[in-house]
Formats: sequence, structure tokens, C-alpha cells
Amino acid sequence: MTKLKLSEPLENYLKEIYELEESKGRAKVVDLISSFNISPGTISKALFRLEQMGMIDRGEGGMRLTEDGRRVAERLVRAHRLSERLLTDVLGVDWVRSHELAHRLEHIWPEDVLDRIDEVLGRPRTCPHGHPISGRAKMNGELLANAVTGPYRVSAILKEEEWILRGADKLGLRPESAISVKREGDLIYLMQEGRDILVPTELAKQILVRAERDERA
Ligand SMILES: [Zn+2]
Ligand SMILES: [Zn+2]
Repeated sequence: MTKLKLSEPLENYLKEIYELEESKGRAKVVDLISSFNISPGTISKALFRLEQMGMIDRGEGGMRLTEDGRRVAERLVRAHRLSERLLTDVLGVDWVRSHELAHRLEHIWPEDVLDRIDEVLGRPRTCPHGHPISGRAKMNGELLANAVTGPYRVSAILKEEEWILRGADKLGLRPESAISVKREGDLIYLMQEGRDILVPTELAKQILVRAERDERA
């Protein structure tokens, strides 16, 4: 494998492209601009560099990781998600800060240390927000915003942004939590201890859930 020196910002773009492919099937320039809150000029310069380095292939408004690009992105994503697990599970850091700190830590771990972290943590399947580690889980399910009345289980929080994580936390929407959904028109409620709690629509679009088999069926 060729040793390419990528700058930290370029590594971040690669990782974001990987995560967009993971959640949406493909990465578009507009999504990258909104994720990083940067100008189209800056992003097109970065994408040009990544293409030159053989990390991505580009075409009509979108891009795809090459095999080399995927390898680099996978390493970063794995390092990010394992760092989060280490911070939350071992050090007791909350899941908002763990995500922020993981952005820095993902660039520093040597491969053998990362393997050791993985081992010590017992080869976790996902990060604390439900995103797969090393293909051990799949991001599947539907958006809470599209759920119908019935029992569900939270599978992941899509964007790990502070307002989303804080909002999810307040409503007990953590990966693997069992929830009882009530749908009324476009509104989604959680039934908790005899009370119906409204889930803000923008938040419901960021929570991935899977239907639980109905016990009575
Ligand atoms: Zn994260
Ligand atoms: Zn995470």
C-alpha cells in the first residue's frame, strides 16, 4: 500500500464522503458544503486534490471513493467510533463531548494501538450513537418521523450534532432503547409512563428506529 500523506482537512472530507455513502448511498457536493459550512470554492479545491491523489472519482455533482480512498476513510471512521466508545464506556465522558474529542483522536492512533483499544473494549459493534464499527453492524431501520403507532427500538442517531444528541438524550432516545410510538397525523409522540411526549419533527428525522415484533401477533 502506498503511503500518502493526507492533511487533516482532506482526511475529514474523505470521512464525510464515506459517511454520506453509508447513510444516503452517495455523496453530493451540496451535502459536503452543508456539512462543513464552507464555500463551494474551498470544497472544489479539496475535491480536486483528493481526485489527484486517487482517493475519489468525480462525476455529475457527486463523487465516489476509490478503493484507496475507501481504505483511508474506513480507518478514520473506525478510529473515530472506537475513540468515542473508549471515551464514553471507559472514561465516562458524555456522548456529545465524546464525538467532539473523537474528531481529534481519530487522526492520532497508530494501527496497533487502535487494535488494542478494540480488543480492550470487547470489539464493540457500534459507536455510542449506533454507527457500525468495522462492518459488525448495519445501519438499518426507518426514520422515527416515518414510524406508525407501535413498539420500536432505537437503532442510531443519524447526525451527531449537539442539538440532536441533547434532544435525543432528553427523550430517552438512545440506541437499543425500547420505545412506544404514537402517531397522530404528522406528529410523533412517545408514550412514557402514561404520558404522550411530542418529538420535535426535525429531531424525529434524525433518529433511526426498527419496528419490534408485536407481542400479541
Ligand atoms: Zn462521532
Ligand atoms: Zn458516534
